[in-house]
Amino acid sequence: MNCPESTLVYNSTIRSYRDLPLRLAEIGRLHRNELSGTLGGLFRVRQITMDDAHIYVRPDQVEDEVVRILKTIDEFYSLFNFKPEYVLATRPESALGDKEDWDKAERALANALEHHGVKFEFAEGEGAFYGPKIEVHMKDSQGRDWQMGTAQLDLVMLPKQFELAYTDEDGSKKMPWVIHRAIFGSFERFLGILLEETGGNLPVWLSPVQAAVLTVSDKSEDYAMDVIRKLRAAGVRAKIIDGAETLNKKIRDAETMKIPYILVVGPKEAEAGMVNVRERATDAQKSLPPEEFISLICRQLP
Ligand code: ZN
Repeated sequence: MNCPESTLVYNSTIRSYRDLPLRLAEIGRLHRNELSGTLGGLFRVRQITMDDAHIYVRPDQVEDEVVRILKTIDEFYSLFNFKPEYVLATRPESALGDKEDWDKAERALANALEHHGVKFEFAEGEGAFYGPKIEVHMKDSQGRDWQMGTAQLDLVMLPKQFELAYTDEDGSKKMPWVIHRAIFGSFERFLGILLEETGGNLPVWLSPVQAAVLTVSDKSEDYAMDVIRKLRAAGVRAKIIDGAETLNKKIRDAETMKIPYILVVGPKEAEAGMVNVRERATDAQKSLPPEEFISLICRQLP
C-alpha cells in the first residue's frame, strides 16, 4: 500500500489546526499477487494504478470534506454517463478505537451522502477495522458488481501507527483523522467498465485517434497530408491511412480501430477542396470543406 508515504509528508513539519484539511494526492502503482485463476481482463490485474489521495482532517471537517469528494465523483462519472451506486460500510466486530468516535464518523459519512442527495445502502459491519467507509460501485456488462472509488475514514491505523498530531486552537495536541480516497479507484477497472459500456466506441474527446484520413489511391496522398496538417493544427488527433490496399480494406481498418470520423479523399475531393466524412455514431456520410469538418469535431471537444 502507498498510504504510509503521505504520512511522511504530513510528519515532515509541525502541523496546526490551520493546516487542515491537508490533501495529498498521487497516482499510485500497487502490486497484488493475485492467483492466475482470479485474474480477469482489466477488472482484476496484478499491477493496479490508483488515483490515490490521503486527506488529513479534524473530526469536525469530515462531513464537508466528504461532500467535496462526492461532488468530484459526480463530476467525473457524469463525463462518462456513469451512474454509480453508494454503500456505507459500518463498524465491524473487529473494530479498533472508541465506539464514540465510530458513531461520530458514521454519522458524518451518512450526513455527507444525504447532504449530497444520493441514495445509498448500509453494509452493516463491513467497514474496515480502522474506520467506516463509503464505497462507490458499478456493474459490468454481466451484472457483476465492482467497487470503484472510495472515501475510507481512518480513525486509528495511520494516525496511531505514524503518531500523527496537530496543535489545536487551544494549544493542545490532537490526533487528526485520515480519509483514504480514490475517485476512479483502479484506472484499469474503470477502463474495463468504460470499454464494455461503450463497446470500445469511446467519446470523441477520449478517442486516441479522432479522425482518420483515407486515400482512395496514392494520387491523393499530397492532398491527404494537407488535410492532416489542418486537423492537427486545430488540435484534432488525426491519422493517415494510405498505401496500396483497397478503399474498403482501409475503411474496415479504421472501423476496427473505432475511429469516430473517417475522411475519404480521392481526386474528386482534392479537386473540389473537400473531404468525404463518415460519422461512426450515425453512419451518415457527407462532403465538407476540411474547415467545416474541423468546426464540427471541435464542438465535441472540451
Ligand atoms: Zn490509503
